[in-house]
Amino acid sequence: MNLRFSIIAVSLFIFGCSQSSKTSQKTVDPQETDGVYIKVLGIAQDGGMPHINNSKEFEAVSQGKLIQERVVSLGLIDTDAQKKYLFEATPDLPEQLYFLHQEIASNTIVDGVFLTHAHIGHYTGLMHFGREAMGSKAIPVYAMPRMKTFLETNGPWSQLVDLENINIRPMQADSIITLSRKLKITPFLVPHRDEFSETVGYRIEGPEKIALLIPDIDKWFKWERSIVAEVKNVDYAFIDATFFSEGEIPRPMSEVPHPFIDETTALFKNETSAVKSKVIFIHFNHSNPALNEQHPKRLALEKEGYRFARQGEMYGL
Ligand SMILES: [Zn+2]
Ligand SMILES: [Zn+2]
Repeated sequence: MNLRFSIIAVSLFIFGCSQSSKTSQKTVDPQETDGVYIKVLGIAQDGGMPHINNSKEFEAVSQGKLIQERVVSLGLIDTDAQKKYLFEATPDLPEQLYFLHQEIASNTIVDGVFLTHAHIGHYTGLMHFGREAMGSKAIPVYAMPRMKTFLETNGPWSQLVDLENINIRPMQADSIITLSRKLKITPFLVPHRDEFSETVGYRIEGPEKIALLIPDIDKWFKWERSIVAEVKNVDYAFIDATFFSEGEIPRPMSEVPHPFIDETTALFKNETSAVKSKVIFIHFNHSNPALNEQHPKRLALEKEGYRFARQGEMYGL
């Protein structure tokens, strides 16, 4: 256990050094990880932060007033099995795999990639496995039926399949994938703008704890499950926090439906702070005021127990 703790402490230190002070790292229950933990590799919405066509954000980043946020991704590490997995293949995948490598420097770059859906922030990082970049060999990529067909039948993704850079592992909704004695993954369908693929969230079950990952969903009321009940059944719930509230972007927000943070917190208003603290907001659009750690609205929610994902954080499973 001590060794595990030191591994985490050392990697926190290394990761911490590469980040600005805004991402000051904190570990959640390191002693309880049992060698299995999640590492947050990115928290931004698909378009990242700074965002295209936003000179102000680029200037602020270059002046050190804002930090760059990578696109939403979680790493899953099993130190005993010496395996590491990636949730989402984002445009920032090369750097995110490097952060994962810092956890376990095994010969395999990644032991599996789990995709949620075919929107740009969630799968286009696969391009780096192809002939123009890594030219990888049979990286296991877990995909739902429509997602699998989409990759197999549309270039340039089909070339990754034809050249066997990736090896698609079919998944079924609500069907458990056993990665090891300690790790089980279950995809489940969620309502979203499914132009090219279905959309899933994941239940990630470790030896001690369970995490939920729902980076994209249209609105909670469109889902047949209750988000409050689902959160109560797990230890951590990384959930869609694209926007804070209505009117945040200068175009009809009904074109890009997501549960606003203020809608989500309204659903939890009668819950205890222990329940609220299971909620870890993630997938922030560049417009979301909660990206600013000192924003009064964010501070007020943190006081109630809610958490906001930070790059480099670890959550023991
Ligand atoms: Zn997204
Ligand atoms: Zn999406």
